[in-house]
Amino acid sequence: MKFTVKAVTGGRARAGMLHLGSNPMETPALLLSTRKGLPVFISPDLLPCLPRPDSHLLQFSPLHFLDGPCPKTISSIGGLHQMLGLHEYGFVAVARDSVQSLPEFDSTNKFGASFETPCGRRLVKPVEYMEMISSMRPNLWTTLADEVPAWVSDKRNKTSVDRTVKWLDECIAMSPAGGAVFGSIVGGSNIEERQRCAQEVAKRNVSGYWIGGFGLAESMDDRPPLLYAVTDNLPEERPRLICGLGLPEEVLQGIAAGVDLFDSAYIYHLTLGGFALIFPLDGMETSDIGSECTKINLRATMYRKDTTPIVEGCSCYTCQNHTKAYINHLLNVHEMLAQILLEIHNTYHYLGFFRSIRYAIKEGKFEEFQNKFVQSRRSSCILE
Ligand SMILES: [Zn+2]
Repeated sequence: MKFTVKAVTGGRARAGMLHLGSNPMETPALLLSTRKGLPVFISPDLLPCLPRPDSHLLQFSPLHFLDGPCPKTISSIGGLHQMLGLHEYGFVAVARDSVQSLPEFDSTNKFGASFETPCGRRLVKPVEYMEMISSMRPNLWTTLADEVPAWVSDKRNKTSVDRTVKWLDECIAMSPAGGAVFGSIVGGSNIEERQRCAQEVAKRNVSGYWIGGFGLAESMDDRPPLLYAVTDNLPEERPRLICGLGLPEEVLQGIAAGVDLFDSAYIYHLTLGGFALIFPLDGMETSDIGSECTKINLRATMYRKDTTPIVEGCSCYTCQNHTKAYINHLLNVHEMLAQILLEIHNTYHYLGFFRSIRYAIKEGKFEEFQNKFVQSRRSSCILE
């Protein structure tokens, strides 16, 4: 893995270039969240219809494979790239995801981290986690963390930092050859613990940083100082990945704090609910960026006879070939093609949002972009 910061604007927001897998990729970037390595509704043959190389980073949780195949089998097949036949894609392993592998802080103990998974609640010890990582051979993986929600006590926050740093050392000691290691940073809603964790992890020999414990009930207003407490204590030349910030406003908060990589559970939730993203993407040229409602619910009867595409001028497969009326029909008759078409459009659209952000950073106009976006959406829509 190689990472270079190309431009910094507004103090912390940065644009960079990440080399992972076969394609160089510009940051800030979106990692597509997957179930067992593939986006939930997009099959491998449809993956190439998403923009390249923007769609080439796939985030997965090794815990998705707790119900099999077992690590030994995956290892014998040759790892995840070989098993899924996706050799050109970069796989990023994170223990927790925002959909199916949620941290369960009450049951986490000194031996390992607990998660709610499709196979029930599971305690995962560092040695078991590393066995999964070694067999799957991702391009990038994050160390095991004890993530806690925003409301826990200072004592619990301190314990979570101590455990996460200890497990970081254990994971690094067992780390397989190849694959970049991202050290996990926690600390909940305690500024001092966030700083302490970032300082400790920054001393370790890692390729980058994974910022955990966000999207776990902290308020939008509390978040920026917590993010700064982390990023201000990290070396600038290494990339930072965050989990749990999905809404456009949350992504902008992360970027303003100097985060480079994001997960994308937002797209999954939208798609599942029958929503399509429609906010304008043409960046600084549009004075009313974000001013329209951000998304539409295609289940609504008003789209039954609407023969226009979701977004006029969108070059995704869905908008090029289908109308709102057709997708409305597919949703009403519970055809999975509805979610397939929606996930293609929503992914395309959200990757376009990241492209606009990168452009704004490179032009030195990120703060302006963020303010316009947030203000116009606040005045016309409820955040959702
Ligand atoms: Zn589209």
